[in-house]
Amino acid sequence: MTASSLPPGSTIGVLGGGQLGRMLSQAASRLGFDVIILDPEPDSPAGRVSARQIIAAYDDPEALSELGRACDVVTFEFENVPAASVERLEAAGARVAPGPLALATAQDRVAEKSFLNGAEAPTVAFAPVATLAELTAAIDALGLPALLKTRRDGYDGKGQVWIRSPEDAESAFSALGGRPAILEAAADFVRELSVIAARGRDGAVAVYPLGENHHAGGVLRTTLAPAEVPTTTQRRAEQIARSILGGLDYVGVIGVELFEMADGALLVNEIAPRVHNTGHWTQDGCVCDQFEQHVRAVVGWPLGPTDAHARIEMSNLLGDEVDQWAALAADPAVRVHLYGKAEARPGRKMAHVNRVLGAL
Ligand code: AMP
Repeated sequence: MTASSLPPGSTIGVLGGGQLGRMLSQAASRLGFDVIILDPEPDSPAGRVSARQIIAAYDDPEALSELGRACDVVTFEFENVPAASVERLEAAGARVAPGPLALATAQDRVAEKSFLNGAEAPTVAFAPVATLAELTAAIDALGLPALLKTRRDGYDGKGQVWIRSPEDAESAFSALGGRPAILEAAADFVRELSVIAARGRDGAVAVYPLGENHHAGGVLRTTLAPAEVPTTTQRRAEQIARSILGGLDYVGVIGVELFEMADGALLVNEIAPRVHNTGHWTQDGCVCDQFEQHVRAVVGWPLGPTDAHARIEMSNLLGDEVDQWAALAADPAVRVHLYGKAEARPGRKMAHVNRVLGAL
């Protein structure tokens, strides 16, 4: 511990009241901290397990000042927090972790990919696209197929469209509403992997074993972890995570999504400056899970161990799949994590389960 470590009894603010905020809050309370959630929805999943919820928009200046005054440190469970909100929190006396540089980088796919390539974390080739003429030029430079994505506000495969022939360019550009975009070369990957890592206030870094991820319709369905990869791949992922964390002077947990290529090379797809769905396996596969790790980092405690003691298959329960909870809870190999959401809208993340495949 250092003089600036926050003692138990301190207060942590979290912007966002979804399941990630809920699990952060549960981890924080286990370490003796109080949590205040800011979320516009009353009765949010995180608000219901926290000391208090401030019900307000994420850019509400008074609510941010109130949160900043009440908290020793503020973190977030989603990355689209406006820069002005961070300034407001800091002005009210709270530390914000991760900081403004990590947020600004992760919010804009062009800034993100430019940073990554500079940090020796290679990505697919890409080009910023602001006009249809720029899109045509980018297609000539990168070749087809290629993926057009909005620069900002994309998640779970939303805000992106494949371009397979030059004639698709105009409709693809208008499908994204003519918003500032990025054209990405197609990654001919063999697997999607991800690495969850953390950096403490003292600059110490801890990296979990890789997870192997399977998506359907742009949404994560399962993570298998630790992924079966050669030691060189795990080491390379650790190197990439370290250089990203150092380059952003990062404090907290980060999720790094990777493409594994046929020759074993890793390309970074994107970074998430927060706890990540592909890290949920750590709750039942590691002594210190990603939520506790994030809390430890932002309060200035030493980071916890990241070795896996079990192999886990994490599955998301979307929409009415959550109705299977009773059968799943009866399975001794399964741990059920329910988010306390009342309405099971189609595709909504309602819960996840970690199936223990075996001890390591
Ligand atoms: P993203 O929103 O960037 O995480 O993309 C969602 C999913 O689209 C990824 O998990 C990949 O399966 C796929 N994807 C994204 N970018 C590319 C790319 N450049 N080439 C091939 N597939 C991609």
